[in-house]
Amino acid sequence: MGRITLDKVTKSFGEVNVIPPLDLTINDGEFVVFVGPSGCGKSTLLRLIAGLEDVTSGQIRIDGDDATRMPPAQRRLAMVFQSYALYPHMSVRKNIAFPMKMAGIPEDEQKRRIDSAAKALNLTDYLDRRPGQLSGGQRQRVAIGRAIVREPSAFLFDEPLSNLDAALRVGMRLEIMELHKRLATTMIYVTHDQVEAMTMADKIVVLRAGNIEQVGSPLELYREPRNEFVAGFIGSPK
Ligand code: ADP
Ligand code: MG
Repeated sequence: MGRITLDKVTKSFGEVNVIPPLDLTINDGEFVVFVGPSGCGKSTLLRLIAGLEDVTSGQIRIDGDDATRMPPAQRRLAMVFQSYALYPHMSVRKNIAFPMKMAGIPEDEQKRRIDSAAKALNLTDYLDRRPGQLSGGQRQRVAIGRAIVREPSAFLFDEPLSNLDAALRVGMRLEIMELHKRLATTMIYVTHDQVEAMTMADKIVVLRAGNIEQVGSPLELYREPRNEFVAGFIGSPK
């Protein structure tokens, strides 16, 4: 599960074309990083995949189904943002339970998923606290926990660590990579940080002004950047 294909997808806001026709295949279980400078369309692309924006033209398929006009809730994708968007008045447990409650999942199943997510994310001792009583890293883990319990076929991360300090970012990167290994689920991770892209990705998609400049493994991009832009951005010696 978690195969996503984009076929000639475009997006315009009014007269302004932000995503020119774009083709992309994301394979089952892959960790894919969208990287590129601010304003190049990373978030827009992620939001199109999540269904938070409608494509102007083209087709999106998820696990073989035409998802182009599917509402976000039906896409079985979970999005994690840089602003954690937690409910401050609810305990960690209730924050994590919230999407399951909305989906009408039985309480014993909710409890099983919360315990399992809390264990995976080192949150077991914090379930009864409120977000205000947690560190930035712990809050980000709660946001990830809330995504995990939906058992999505893919996770979409939009610069999830950019609010954290440098030391914490390193640790959270490792945690996300560990989670990817454990769940074996597709993850799409958006960042403008080259180091993050090069250290985390199975596959990097380099974007410039909505265009895909190159797709490849970190080593492929490093050794054989297709053009000056990719070379400069990835830091190749070329
Ligand atoms: P990134 O995430 O790479 O920084 P975005 O996807 O947020 O880039 O933005 C890409 C371009 O699309 C930018 O020029 C931005 O101003 C424009 N854009 C994004 N969302 C909207 C919107 N809702 N309306 C108009 N323009 C938008
Ligand atoms: Mg963005």
